Amino acid sequence: MTQSAAEWKKKYLDSLSDLERKEKRWQTVESTLRRCLSRLSFVGDGMDPQLDERLEQLRNRVRGEQDTRALLRLIEDIAGRAEGLHAKSNDSRPVSSIETFLARLLDEAPLPKTLGKRAQKLVRTLQHSPSAESIADARGLLLEALLPSPETHAGGGLIGKLFAREKERPDGSETAPAPAAPEETNRPPESQHLLLSLIDQLVHAGYEPVALGKIADQAAQANHRDALDSLVCDLVAILSASHTETPPVVSSLPPVDRVLLQLLQGMDLPGELQPRVQALKSRLTKGVIEANIPAILTELLQLSEHARLQAEQERQEVERFLLQMTDQLQRLDQEVNGIGAVGNELAAGSKRLDSDMQSQVSHLHTAVQQATDLDGLKSSIAERLALIQDRLRDHKSETEQVVQGFEQRIEQLTTRLGDMEQEAASLREHVEQARAEAFTDALTELNNRHAFECRLQEEYLRWSRYGYPLSMIVVDVDHFKKVNDTYGHMAGDKVLHVIGTHLKRATRKVDFPARYGGEEFVILLPEVDLKGAKVVAEKIRHAVQEKPFHSGDNRVNITVSCGVATFRKGDGRKTAFERADEALYLAKRSGRNRCYTEEQIEFNR
Ligand code: GH3
Ligand code: MG
Ligand code: MG
Repeated sequence: MTQSAAEWKKKYLDSLSDLERKEKRWQTVESTLRRCLSRLSFVGDGMDPQLDERLEQLRNRVRGEQDTRALLRLIEDIAGRAEGLHAKSNDSRPVSSIETFLARLLDEAPLPKTLGKRAQKLVRTLQHSPSAESIADARGLLLEALLPSPETHAGGGLIGKLFAREKERPDGSETAPAPAAPEETNRPPESQHLLLSLIDQLVHAGYEPVALGKIADQAAQANHRDALDSLVCDLVAILSASHTETPPVVSSLPPVDRVLLQLLQGMDLPGELQPRVQALKSRLTKGVIEANIPAILTELLQLSEHARLQAEQERQEVERFLLQMTDQLQRLDQEVNGIGAVGNELAAGSKRLDSDMQSQVSHLHTAVQQATDLDGLKSSIAERLALIQDRLRDHKSETEQVVQGFEQRIEQLTTRLGDMEQEAASLREHVEQARAEAFTDALTELNNRHAFECRLQEEYLRWSRYGYPLSMIVVDVDHFKKVNDTYGHMAGDKVLHVIGTHLKRATRKVDFPARYGGEEFVILLPEVDLKGAKVVAEKIRHAVQEKPFHSGDNRVNITVSCGVATFRKGDGRKTAFERADEALYLAKRSGRNRCYTEEQIEFNR
């Protein structure tokens, strides 16, 4: 195999593994989507018995169904039903799973009698005219029920009530260890059951599943009141965190929309799907009503399916091409062997002619020696000469035929080689385009995270070998959520694109700017030390700050914060990034719109 053929083979194999990677990524996206579908399908619960049945089917199917088309059919059916229902009720209230969830929780939890009336009133408000205030009240009430208030003794609150049968501590102190009672009397199955069911509902309502999962695991094993008490405190901490984080006004995006938007943002779909992605984003940003959710889920599933199929098609195309190439190379090999045979045939022909000539000459020789009269000699010589002439004529036409066949083969071969070259060139173009797409972020047209990881690996190896400086800047847009919330996601997307342009302009060709994810960027700077990298970071910060962005008539001031780090002796591949990220965190804490280096972390500790 020639060197360039070997190079091509390597390129094709590389691109095959690229495509496989891409395909894997799509499988992950699809499974996330399935999980999301399963969770979101709870949203429509209780609207209509038939719809409920369908949603239950959907939940079961997304867990195990391999046939996406069947899944799509089911979703379409649900969409139809939900739309019908929506037309009947004409309910265009925006979805809010939190209020439904809170209402259900308040209704079902065995609250202390003193809170019962307030709870029932809140349930009605949440069901009929929910507001930010009623949501906050409901959370407050639940916290009150769960947490013993400082005035009441240690047995107060919902959990306290559930433990009421247990012996109270004589002095009501919280710190005194409970006397070691036999396990059976100390094990609180009722409270345990309540805690587990609360956690279950919280998970369905979208609270932090990992942290809740951990609490649930520990709760399932807890056989001691103290253990359960401490788990309840952990649970309350999670609830309180979301409680304090909730802004006083209900955010412009309800949770379901936000979940879907985040999912869409994380999908990194190819460029050609961007118009559909943008349309879906604008639909989600405008607010979603319950009846539209199945249709939106269908579109999301179709987008992910489309991208997965595209990756699969590309893989098949490259495979097909490789098969074709192998086939054509085999045929070429046969032709080349055939050309060798032509040479052999020609050589055999001239050998035969040679021996024929020798035998004719020796016949002539004998005839001359044995001739007794001139006439006899003449006729014998004339006969031999005629034979020689015939043989030469035969040989000439034989050779001509072989040469003609040979020329035809050469012509065919030349055409075939030309075709192969053309096919190879078009595939080369295709492979290069697919490869570029797999490494590019469609929204900002910067390198994507996958490209960054590959380049980091290369630069890290070079740095480990030669020790030249290698630095890194992490850039994060300040208060980007506000930009989205105030001007919409489309405007947010445009901002990200503009920042991508700033990053390209502020860096050199040998630097490597990439979108790391969401509104976070990273730049790899080979041969640049910490001081130099800080200069680049400041350049980027200034460029962003000085060029206000416009959304309609509004001038939107955008700023970014940066963290800068350089590779140091003993660093692993990811360590410098971690330090840059820490410096970024410091820049955020210190007021944003600033660049900090890793050296400032120590200083500020
Ligand atoms: P901070 O200054 O602390 O970084 O605040 P922040 O609001 O920028 O940070 P936060 O992490 O709270 O929010 C990031 C937001 O970026 C939330 C998410 O919806 C938004 N986002 C992520 N990816 C995209 C995207 O592709 N397009 C748009 N429009 N928004 C995105
Ligand atoms: Mg940010
Ligand atoms: Mg961020």
